[in-house]
Amino acid sequence: MGDGRVVVVGSFMMDLVARTARLPKPGETVIGESFAQFLGGKGFNQAIAAARSGGQVAMVGRVGDDAFGRQFLDALDAAGIDRRGVSVDPEVGTGVGLPVVETSGQNAIIVIPRANHELRSLPSEVFDGASVVLLQWELPREVTVEAARLGRAAGATVVLNPAPAVGDIRDYAGLIDVLVPNETEAAAIGPIEGVQTVLTLGADGARVGDEHLAPHDVECVDTVGAGDAFCGAMCAALAGGASLLEAARVGNAAGALAVTTHGAEPSMPFKAEIERLLAT
Ligand code: ADP
Repeated sequence: MGDGRVVVVGSFMMDLVARTARLPKPGETVIGESFAQFLGGKGFNQAIAAARSGGQVAMVGRVGDDAFGRQFLDALDAAGIDRRGVSVDPEVGTGVGLPVVETSGQNAIIVIPRANHELRSLPSEVFDGASVVLLQWELPREVTVEAARLGRAAGATVVLNPAPAVGDIRDYAGLIDVLVPNETEAAAIGPIEGVQTVLTLGADGARVGDEHLAPHDVECVDTVGAGDAFCGAMCAALAGGASLLEAARVGNAAGALAVTTHGAEPSMPFKAEIERLLAT
């Protein structure tokens, strides 16, 4: 059962987005149209989603000793997220994502994990008493496996969002309670036994075991962050005592709300909006 807390062990990535009429060819310089900076990383987004949907959240991860890192720490404080498990690397800077987006929507992205990949040890006291431990695949494999182990030892429900699909699910044998892949990730990791699966289906909603959750009818402007909103809100509901099916319904509403707003962090919905959508 635990104390109602969600511990998110995950990444911080500052996204520096360039928009351009067309992507440059190798060796070419083009003058872009606009630039924007967004706080991101699947771990950070999911922690924000869990907190906004009413969860008590602690985050574990690593940022650099730089301006980007300070922005993340401030954002965690503003969201009321316990960040005693977030360490600051003295040498390696905060993780960055460098997407170049063409007017056509075509894009190319370079992700440099930096401080995220310097996270080597986990503060075990943060896991004590936790209800849910939420993991993704943007940290070093050993760290994510160790987090699953600490979650298990603490008696928490361990939830893995296997995104991006770069890991090997066999590393987590016996350590995961719930898996939340999208369709691409589910195909990449293959079938696994002994784990409950919540499959996200984009505009088709989601599936929990044999139960299909119909999508909410919303105006989709940008799907970025939908999966993160789903995972964060679902885990907050689980930590609050909901069944997996009830919690997935909350995630399904949060994911739908996320696609109605541009960006990732700005589109993570608040509890009142989720409750309103669930009531319709
Ligand atoms: P990801 O963002 O990880 O690829 P999905 O595309 O499966 O994940 O979206 C996650 C969840 O967001 C879906 O399960 C659904 O609940 C919600 N969602 C996504 N797109 C839509 C949409 N167009 N309409 C309603 N809900 C959506």
